[in-house]
Amino acid sequence: MAARYYAKCTSCKKQADAPPDITTCASCGGILDIKYDYNAIGKSVGRKTLEDSRDRTMWRYRAFLPVSDDADVTGGLRVGNSPLYKADKLGGEIGLSNLYIKDDGFNPTSSLKDRASAMAVVKAAEAGASVIACASTGNAASSLAGSAAKTGFKTYIFVPGRAPLGKVTQLLVFGANVISVDGSYEETFRLSAKAIERWGWYNRNAAVNPFLMEGKKTVSFEIAEQLNWEMPDYVAVSVGDGCTAAGVWKGFYDLHAAGLTDKLPRLISVQAEGCSPVNNAVEADSDKLVPTQENTIADSIAVGVPRNFLKAVTAIRQSNGITVNVSDREILDAIALMGKTTGVFAEPAGAAGTAGVIKARANGLIPRGASVVSIVTGNGLKDIKSGEKATGAPILVKPDMNALIDGFEKAGAVPGQYKIFCGVQTKKR
Ligand SMILES: *Cc1c(COP(=O)(O)O)cnc(C)c1O
Ligand SMILES: [Zn+2]
Repeated sequence: MAARYYAKCTSCKKQADAPPDITTCASCGGILDIKYDYNAIGKSVGRKTLEDSRDRTMWRYRAFLPVSDDADVTGGLRVGNSPLYKADKLGGEIGLSNLYIKDDGFNPTSSLKDRASAMAVVKAAEAGASVIACASTGNAASSLAGSAAKTGFKTYIFVPGRAPLGKVTQLLVFGANVISVDGSYEETFRLSAKAIERWGWYNRNAAVNPFLMEGKKTVSFEIAEQLNWEMPDYVAVSVGDGCTAAGVWKGFYDLHAAGLTDKLPRLISVQAEGCSPVNNAVEADSDKLVPTQENTIADSIAVGVPRNFLKAVTAIRQSNGITVNVSDREILDAIALMGKTTGVFAEPAGAAGTAGVIKARANGLIPRGASVVSIVTGNGLKDIKSGEKATGAPILVKPDMNALIDGFEKAGAVPGQYKIFCGVQTKKR
């Protein structure tokens, strides 16, 4: 029987088998893409089979995923099935009647990267590896450390010194060997590549390992199911290395190619004003990567040399996508607005997608009636310093009623007339 999937180079287009430890193209060093026989997938899975599935993890989409038929996928953390909220209050504030928030910060280590790391540990097991390594702006690292802790791998993880404390602490708690590099993400990445080569570890580096993106695409399968197969007009996502955007697009592409959906959404590719190499190329209609500085508060998308540049640019173009660059202030404002209107707390890169939607709507790039899904890629508790910058301070008082009344008045937060009965607040008429 022919393999269910194979690899194809995004640069020289050569095809090859895809063993579990495959990295870049053997001929040219280009980034590989995993390819499938969509006819066969379409025959083995449909809307109904998915609806009947009792698997509530990302592995319910196994027919679309590049794992061997006998791979055990049940031993990992519980990844996927994150909530999709209709965000009417936020939509009302920004003039969108059909806005949804996909909260992928809901995953076990609190970012969308868990989808890639859950895939990584399954592929590492297939490859017979015992050690996994990666370089990461933070979330790929913490998700790998978590998934590896659950499935019994040793990890070596390289993070730039600027990685927020919350993410680094996750790594340490999950027992990773953490190497904090006094340098940029690009320098961190290059050091990790040399170490992986020298010690022969399983490589979970973004883009270099073509299977990771296949895990990430499950977020789109969930969106399709959660919207009852009514595909959205736009899906907003923040872009760093470009694996997430490319993965999101591939998920929608796969469903369409296998005949499960009849419409493809357009991507809204959101980058930071201080670091937008992918959007710059799309806007210049160029395939040439011009590295930029990594100048943004959104550490997860502070990537001056995106590792999956070509796949991301191609995905945005194929989807007839929109590019939006947002300032740090706009990101912080989006954290606060999304928090108070939806109850979802995002880290800066996690709120960047929503900041992009707000800006795209304000600039008239998307119509009021469009249905828009904004993916929150990471939880705000990972970076509480930024959350603090996004919001005001609490009302500080001494433990005294007069001080409290004073505090309320100073903060302009005077409560209405409420009476409390047995802990239940009822408004006085
Ligand atoms: C990694 C990450 C991104 C961007 O994903 P890329 O694949 O690097 O483009 C966005 N948001 C968060 C929270 C991330 O961790
Ligand atoms: Zn090649």
